[in-house]
Amino acid sequence: TSMQIRSNSTSHVRVVVRVRPFLPSELESKDKGPVPCISVLNADSDPRSGEEITVHIKDQWTSRNECYKLDSFFSQENGLDSIFHGEVSNLISGVFKGSNATVFAYGATGSGKTYTMQGTDRQPGLIPLSMSRILSSCESSGSSIEIAYYEVYLDRCYDLLEPKAKEVMVLEDKDGQVQMKGLSRVTVRSMPEFSQIFASGVQRRKIAHTGLNDVSSRSHGVLSIIVSSGGAVGKLNLIDLAGNEDNRRTGNEGIRLLESAKINQSLFALSNVIYALNNNEPRIPYRESKLTRILQDSLGGTSRALMIACLNPMSYHEAVHTVSLAARSR
Ligand code: ADP
Ligand code: MG
Repeated sequence: TSMQIRSNSTSHVRVVVRVRPFLPSELESKDKGPVPCISVLNADSDPRSGEEITVHIKDQWTSRNECYKLDSFFSQENGLDSIFHGEVSNLISGVFKGSNATVFAYGATGSGKTYTMQGTDRQPGLIPLSMSRILSSCESSGSSIEIAYYEVYLDRCYDLLEPKAKEVMVLEDKDGQVQMKGLSRVTVRSMPEFSQIFASGVQRRKIAHTGLNDVSSRSHGVLSIIVSSGGAVGKLNLIDLAGNEDNRRTGNEGIRLLESAKINQSLFALSNVIYALNNNEPRIPYRESKLTRILQDSLGGTSRALMIACLNPMSYHEAVHTVSLAARSR
């Protein structure tokens, strides 16, 4: 295939890759030090130049080699600040003008999705970075902020701001607009207030449904930040997607297989929607899954989105599985 230059800075959905650093256990386990399976051509190109990057994924045992074209690359050395400044802060500016935007963290379990979105006490992730940027912009502009936080599990939605993570129905009104009936919204005025509300939602996500099983890595977690400034209302969705799994490799059975089938179905639907948007197709297949129906008002039109394909640097098969779906979205 020939190298082509596209103006991806104007496409609806940018698709970027992030490789997490080696974990201490991974550094210990190898005598010569671990070898990452991912490398990139034009890794240093300016993300706003519109020049695409080429990701190479190589299996060190069989030397099988796959390559895919994507919009930008964040290496093991890049902190979350560089993704925030390079890719997210411009989406936030649009939200203040009344547009909607969505950031997805996508990848296998253990690839760094939750770390990317939530971060830790020492390294804030894209959620706290976005929230504090929005709060400080609101102070100067007199805007107000509300949040909603819910998860999508087995195609059902649960309100994580409600004590028992109550189920919320997704309905379509006469005009074809999708509504989440009774989903709570809470006003947020400061970072400590946000952290406390969000943390209790995260906790609910871990114990909802069965009371025992943590399904949080098998559900999509959606935080919506709604900004009202003047007459304009804009929304930023920050989404920790369920871990994508290759069933041929995991040997899932029973509920795990059902969960995994639903996850793969919704991720595939998401990828179809992104592909249709980026290629200006006349019909966008929002109805293929609950997740894409809910996000219908935030994908397409004047909305912008960012898909972050998260990769474990050690796992060839996972990386191929994740990046191939990400690449086919463009
Ligand atoms: P996922 O949500 O995709 O299952 P996690 O976010 O839980 O993955 O990350 C898996 C592990 O990798 C965690 O121990 C996390 O702390 C660690 N990790 C991920 N990204 C980084 C990073 N940039 N720096 C340090 N540790 C990271
Ligand atoms: Mg996670």
